[in-house]
Amino acid sequence: MSRFMSEKNRVLSPYVPGEQPKTQEKIVKLNTNESPFPPSPLAVSMAKEKTENLQLYCDPTAAMLKRAISEEYGVPENCIAVSNGSDELLDFAFQAFSSYDVPAVFPDITYGFYPVFARRNHVPFLEKPLDGDLRIDPEDYISVHGMVVIANPNAPTGIMLGTDQIERIVSSRPDTVTVVDEAYVDFGGESALPLIKKYPNLLVVRTFSKSRSLAGARLGYGFASEELISDIETIRNSTNPYNVNSVTMAAGTGAMKDREYTENNCRTIIRNREKYTALLKELGFVTTDSKANFIFAKHEKVSGKDLYLMLKERGVLIRHFDLPRITEYNRITVGSEEQMDVLIKNIKEILEEIR
Ligand SMILES: *Cc1c(COP(=O)(O)O)cnc(C)c1O
Repeated sequence: MSRFMSEKNRVLSPYVPGEQPKTQEKIVKLNTNESPFPPSPLAVSMAKEKTENLQLYCDPTAAMLKRAISEEYGVPENCIAVSNGSDELLDFAFQAFSSYDVPAVFPDITYGFYPVFARRNHVPFLEKPLDGDLRIDPEDYISVHGMVVIANPNAPTGIMLGTDQIERIVSSRPDTVTVVDEAYVDFGGESALPLIKKYPNLLVVRTFSKSRSLAGARLGYGFASEELISDIETIRNSTNPYNVNSVTMAAGTGAMKDREYTENNCRTIIRNREKYTALLKELGFVTTDSKANFIFAKHEKVSGKDLYLMLKERGVLIRHFDLPRITEYNRITVGSEEQMDVLIKNIKEILEEIR
C-alpha cells in the first residue's frame, strides 16, 4: 500500500478471483463455476440491439428487467433489487444492514468475499466452524445478534441446508437481517424465496452468472420485503444509480424470459454432476453431497495442491483453496461432457503415474 492510502483502508485484504487464463491455448477451464453453455439466444439478440443505443443512460429503475424477474418468480417488482453482479448486492447488504459494534456471522468455510466485504465496511465478523462433515450447523446461527450470511448451497462444499433450517434461523432473530446467497440454487437446491412474504428480515440473493450463463455481463438480483429492498435502493442510489448497464439489462431480461433454455442447461449440469461424481468415486475420490454446479473432491493418494498443479500442467484448471480444513480438496466446476471426459482421462493418467 502506498503512503497515500488512507488509514481506514489498512485492514483491507482483497478477494482473489479464480485464474482467468489469457493464453489462446486450448485449456479446459473448470475453476470458476461458469456455465459451459453460451447465453440464451434471446439474451444475445436483446443485448445486441441495445449496443446501438449506448449513447443513452440506462434505466436506473431497471423496470424491464425487474418486470421479467417478477413474471418469472411471481414476486412484486418492489420486492426485487438488481445489481452489478450479486457481489455488489452482497456488498450493499453489508452496507445497509451490518453494524460497527455487532459482528456479522457466517461459516468459516464459505464464499471468500464475505470477510472481504466485512472488512471493507469496517464490520467485525465471527466465523462459525462447519462441522466435521463440512456441514453448516444451524444451531450456530439461532438467535445470534449480528447480520447472518449463509450461502445455500454453501460454497465450496455444495452442501445444502433445508428451507426448514433456514426458516428456524430467520425466525429466531426477527430484529436482524439474514442474507441467504442462492448463487447455486438452480442446480437442485431448495430456495428460501417463499419465506420473504412471512419474514421482513430475509434477503435472498441470486446471480445470472452461473445458471444463466452471464458471468461476464455482471448481473445479480435479490428478493426481500418491500422495506428491505427500499433500504438496498437507498444504498444503491447513494453509490451508483446506473449500476446495471443497458446491455447487461437487456441480456438479463432475455435470459430471464427464456426459461426453457435455462432449465435444459441446469438439467444437463445436474446430470453431468451425478455422472462424474460417480466416476470420481470409482477412482477413489471422496466427495461432498453437492447440489451446485461443482464437485468438491479429495483423494487419499494425492494431495489437493498436487492434483491441482498436475492438472494445470496438463491444461485442466480446477480450483484449489489453500485453507487448512479443505486443503486436501479441490473444487471442480461441472462442465460439458467433453470437458469432463478430458478431466477424467487426465486424472486417470495422474493416478497411474503416482501409483
Ligand atoms: C459466484 C458466486 C457469487 C457471485 O456471483 P456474481 O453474480 O458473479 O458476482 C456470489 N456468491 C457465491 C456463493 C458465488 O459462488
